Amino acid sequence: MRLISDPDDAARALLGGHLAALPTETVYGLGARADLPHAIARVYAAKGRPADHPLIVHIRDVSELGAWASDVPGYAHDLARAHWPGPLTLVLSRTDRAGDFVTGGQDTVAVRVPAHPLMRTVLDRLAGFTGDPAIGIAAPSANRFGRVSPTTAAHVEVELGLLLGADDVILDGGPSAVGVESTIVDCTGDRPVILRPGHVSAADVTAATGLAVGSTSTVRAPGTLASHYAPAARVVLVEAEALLSAEPDDASTGVLALAEVPTPIGLVRLSEPTGVDDYARVLYSALREADALGLTRVLAVPPPPVGVGAAVIDRLERAASGG
Ligand code: AMP
Ligand code: MG
Repeated sequence: MRLISDPDDAARALLGGHLAALPTETVYGLGARADLPHAIARVYAAKGRPADHPLIVHIRDVSELGAWASDVPGYAHDLARAHWPGPLTLVLSRTDRAGDFVTGGQDTVAVRVPAHPLMRTVLDRLAGFTGDPAIGIAAPSANRFGRVSPTTAAHVEVELGLLLGADDVILDGGPSAVGVESTIVDCTGDRPVILRPGHVSAADVTAATGLAVGSTSTVRAPGTLASHYAPAARVVLVEAEALLSAEPDDASTGVLALAEVPTPIGLVRLSEPTGVDDYARVLYSALREADALGLTRVLAVPPPPVGVGAAVIDRLERAASGG
């Protein structure tokens, strides 16, 4: 495995069928060419991910969507126009290009146009090398299955370094700006349904489409229901008032809360985000820090459910539901 900073080298590794951990604005992804079954198989193996969990295909531009998805409804085009490139994934009926090995055998495919400049350069170079403008990179979060997603290249190196091969690379593009995974929207019905909350909120979806967000979906989104995003430390959600009356027991308890919430004496402050966007950005590195410090417990005060706050609450609840 090589740690690199040149996106051309990442594109070359992908071209050769190797893996490239890639920076995106959401979290770091473990990328492979979405048209190479053996490369995709290595992504599943490195992550320890069950084979029926589908991957998100990253493409260069909305103009390539038709190569991967069919029967795209008007509201999906509205969403793409409003939020691509960006932290939004659309689930649509698949074309033949989207093989079973990417979709987990489902008849839908999840597609996103990422915004991170280095990721976009990798996609452009790979399109140039292959002569295929619609080439896709499948890139699930670059962590072991069920664990905390990485938001820096160093996180990826710690988590997967020993599991990657000599020709695989990690592209360092700095810390992820959003910090939590993309919003996933099921676009197979007559109205959008959010399968996973992210930076693009339900209000944003309604604003872009003029439609109320639906609540039921027939699409299976494995990995969005189970306990997930869990550090070794036990995560407990608490209200700010309860935190202040917490036992000042020991230095093995960490605190994660907005800056306005004071730290009880004796507890370890992991981060002091200034608002919901900042909370999302620091969330995963704070959970990793808890493990690095050997803390046994993290008391987390959820942010308000506005904007990306709903996604932060979602991730905290899953982190708290086991590990
Ligand atoms: P990750 O790549 O780690 O962010 O996880 C990808 C997420 O996208 C998982 O929760 C998958 O269940 C979901 N996903 C990917 N493809 C599909 C699809 N075709 N239908 C529904 N969910 C999908
Ligand atoms: Mg993941």
